Amino acid sequence: MLQPYKPGKSPEQIKKEYNVDKVIKLASNENPFGCSPKVESALQNSLQLCATYPDGAATELRKKLSEHLQVKENQLLFGSGLDEVIQTISRVMLCEGDNIVTALETFPQYKHHAIIEGCEVREIPLINGRYDLDTMSKAIDLRTRVVWICNPNNPTGTYVKEEALIRFLRTIPRQTIVVLDEAYYEYVNAKDFPQTIPLLNEFENLLVLRTFSKAYGLAAFRIGYAIGNEQLIEKINIARLPFNTSTFAQAAAIAALEDHPFLDFCVEQNKQGLQQYEECLEELGIEYCPSQTNFIFIRTDDSNAWFEHLIEKGYIVRPFPTGIRITIGTKEQNEGVLSIIRNHVTDQTLVKIGDR
Ligand SMILES: *Cc1c(COP(=O)(O)O)cnc(C)c1O
Repeated sequence: MLQPYKPGKSPEQIKKEYNVDKVIKLASNENPFGCSPKVESALQNSLQLCATYPDGAATELRKKLSEHLQVKENQLLFGSGLDEVIQTISRVMLCEGDNIVTALETFPQYKHHAIIEGCEVREIPLINGRYDLDTMSKAIDLRTRVVWICNPNNPTGTYVKEEALIRFLRTIPRQTIVVLDEAYYEYVNAKDFPQTIPLLNEFENLLVLRTFSKAYGLAAFRIGYAIGNEQLIEKINIARLPFNTSTFAQAAAIAALEDHPFLDFCVEQNKQGLQQYEECLEELGIEYCPSQTNFIFIRTDDSNAWFEHLIEKGYIVRPFPTGIRITIGTKEQNEGVLSIIRNHVTDQTLVKIGDR
């Protein structure tokens, strides 16, 4: 049964329910440093435009972003968050009786929209928290319209390497498109992470998705984008709503894009935060997935106990069947979470599991 998206409880609800006075939400991979201070003045300037429709083509943002990414302007498609881009791609590409191929433990919206379109969803289990591209390749048939790869993967934080991705792309038939969801791209550190924009020249059936919601700290504005071959972008663009990104979202994104120091600061803080977690978890012998994102996935069979334990102390994290996902916060927030884990790691409630 299809269910509507269920957001986590708000900090206000949690405060009442658990009787804590300070709540820190580390459940949605939001930027703990907010957004660039330049966004505020950009918004001030846009306020006079409240009564007019936004620029449906996002002309200025398109120009800025195409220069930034070194792609043509008509290789870009903007959406009200990547959520909408995923919906639009699904709407254009999928008909009843088609199928999609993706991972079992990944971003749930690929599956959600495929079901709405009446498609079969072929979900390939991760191996050790990683995409199993060989099995995914074998699952593709003539009715496979879209292959969804979340890279790095949410919720595990692991990634598909460039070499493995290229090998995989060579096995994909032309009528099937491959969508690489790179929502966490800006945080990636690994040298062998795929450089996907140059691959767009070689693979006309490839789409790359990125967003302003995570490292740029603009989740409230709802703005994300797809990059792809011009013909493919044009095809998807037909189903896009005329004014799907607001004047304010476009202005905020332009300001955020120009503030390199702020982005660099967030990425560096995140790198240090990940190190904080890794060092502590190694020391405690707690199993986690190595992450290229702004969250870390701790493996446990008992994620609900971990969740309850942390929420009682005022930290909201996200439980999954095989572990908990914690957003990397400020240094102080990370220390807060880690000291709770450290103090209670010997409790029976926090069950460590073996390698799987
Ligand atoms: C957060 C996230 C999205 C959605 O991002 P928005 O641009 O805020 O809609 C898409 N894909 C992945 C993997 C995400 O983690």
